[in-house]
Amino acid sequence: MTAAPHSAANHGAANHGAVTHGAADLPVRPGEDPWSDAELADLRIELEKEAVALRAELGDSQAQIAARLGDAATEAGDDEADTSSKLFEREHELALSNNTRELLEQTEHALARIESGTYGVCESCGKPIGKARLQAFPRATLCVACKQRQERR
Ligand SMILES: [Zn+2]
Repeated sequence: MTAAPHSAANHGAANHGAVTHGAADLPVRPGEDPWSDAELADLRIELEKEAVALRAELGDSQAQIAARLGDAATEAGDDEADTSSKLFEREHELALSNNTRELLEQTEHALARIESGTYGVCESCGKPIGKARLQAFPRATLCVACKQRQERR
């Protein structure tokens, strides 16, 4: 068994006209109008912009972490207070960069779902998430009911 390489993400921009799923095919909740191509395009552009910004941010913070790890390795003679404040800073930065990475993953996941035509389907119950909810939270993968159930756990 050969695993397919996970490299599609970088080719998104070159894929003009490759979308085979119409916006109107995406699920909406009862009473909502179907997605128009323009609405979906707006949302997608917004997500793509965020992905670019998050990737840049992640690149910056990883460079900073790498620089600081380098510092720590060369400064073996630090006193303890100095070392622990550096550790704190590093942990803070790692946490920030983990948040950014998570947000980037969610953003890329939403874009992948738009590509594959599964955008708007609740990943827990399979019902429509709802257009209004997605326009407010484009990265949502759960409908309101499932989200609330998850938060109560
Ligand atoms: Zn659900």
